[in-house]
Amino acid sequence: MSKPIRILSSHLVNQIAAGEVVERPASVAKELIENSLDAECTRVEIDVERGGIKRLRVRDDGRGIPPDQLVLALSRHATSKVADLSDLEAVATLGFRGEALPSIASVSRLRLISRSRDAPTALEVTVGSDGVLEEPRPAAHPPGTSVDVQDLFYNTPARRKFLRTEKTEFGHLEQVVRRIALARPEIAFQLRHDGRTLYDLPAAADAAGQRARLETLLGTPFAEQALTLDEEAVDLRLWGWVVRPAFSRSQADQQFFYVNGRMVRDKLVSHAVRQSFSDLLHHGRHPAYVLFLELPARTVDCNVHPSKHEVRFREGRQVHDFIFRVLQRRLSAGVLGETQPSAETASA
Ligand code: ADP
Ligand code: MG
Repeated sequence: MSKPIRILSSHLVNQIAAGEVVERPASVAKELIENSLDAECTRVEIDVERGGIKRLRVRDDGRGIPPDQLVLALSRHATSKVADLSDLEAVATLGFRGEALPSIASVSRLRLISRSRDAPTALEVTVGSDGVLEEPRPAAHPPGTSVDVQDLFYNTPARRKFLRTEKTEFGHLEQVVRRIALARPEIAFQLRHDGRTLYDLPAAADAAGQRARLETLLGTPFAEQALTLDEEAVDLRLWGWVVRPAFSRSQADQQFFYVNGRMVRDKLVSHAVRQSFSDLLHHGRHPAYVLFLELPARTVDCNVHPSKHEVRFREGRQVHDFIFRVLQRRLSAGVLGETQPSAETASA
C-alpha cells in the first residue's frame, strides 16, 4: 500500500538541500568564507580541526548580522542579498540562495555569533539536534561574525561515510581557501589546522603584494614563469597570469578561472583555454593559470546549480572566442619573445 503524501519537515528539507551544497568540510568553508566576503570584511580567519570534520570555524570582521535578524539568517530561503527578479539577474554577491546556513546547520552542530557594527553587544545562537534553535543570548565578540561548525554529518551517517581521511578533506579545504584568497588579494586570510598556521596572508595593497600572495599560494615557479595579461574588448575583459607552456604541469592542479570574481569550472571556458594551448603543450601536460573574466552581470547566469560552479553565458560563442584569442596571442608572444628553457626543467 502506498504511503500518504505529506509535507516534509523543514529540518528534513534542509538536510535534503544540504545534499547539494554541503558535500564535505571544503564546501562548508566555501559557503562560510563567501558569506564573510559578501559582508565586506577585511580579514577572514579559518580555524580547522581534524580536516574540518571535527570542527571548522570562520571568523570575520564584516558587517555582522543585526540582532533581530540572527535567527532569520538560519532560516531557509532567507537572504539579505536579493529581493526580486531584477536583483537575481544581476547578482553582485557570491551568495543569493539563502540556503547555506540552514543547510549546514541541519547536518552539523552549528553556533552563529554576530555583532553588527552599531550593535552594543554580540548575540549568539546555537542550533540543537533536529534543527531546533536555542534562544539567542548575549556573547562577547568584536563587530563581525563567527560561525562554528562541529561534527559535520553527525546526524547523517550515510553522508559521513563518504568523507575521506582528515588529510584528504583538509587538502580540499585548503584548495578552497587558496581559490578564494587568489581572487581577493585586498583581504587578509589566515588558515590554521590543528593549531598549525598554514597561511597568514596580509591584505595586499598593490601589484607587488598581489604577486607575493601568488607566490605564497602557488609557489615560486608559478610566480616567476607567469606571463601577465590584461585585454579588453567590448564588454569583456580578461586579465591575470598564465604560465609559459614550457612550465606546464603534470597535474591540472593550478587552474583557476574566475567569472566576475566567482571561481568556476565551466566546460566552455576550459575548452577555450585548452584550445589556446593545444599546439604548445606536450602530451599529458597541463597548463597553469589564474585568470579573471569580467563581463556585465546581466550577460552571465550563475544560478545554474546550487554549488554555483557552472555559469551560462548569453553570448557563449563570443566569450569562448575572446578567451581563445587573447590567450593564444599572449602565449605566442610569450614564447617567441623570450628564450625558453627546455621542457625537461619544467616544474612538477
Ligand atoms: P545567502 O548567502 O545565499 O544569502 P546564507 O544562508 O549563506 O544565504 O546566509 C543567509 C544570510 O545571513 C545572508 O544573506 C546574510 O544576510 C547573513 N549572513 C550570513 N553570514 C554572514 C556573515 N559572515 N556576515 C554577515 N552576514 C551574514
Ligand atoms: Mg551564503
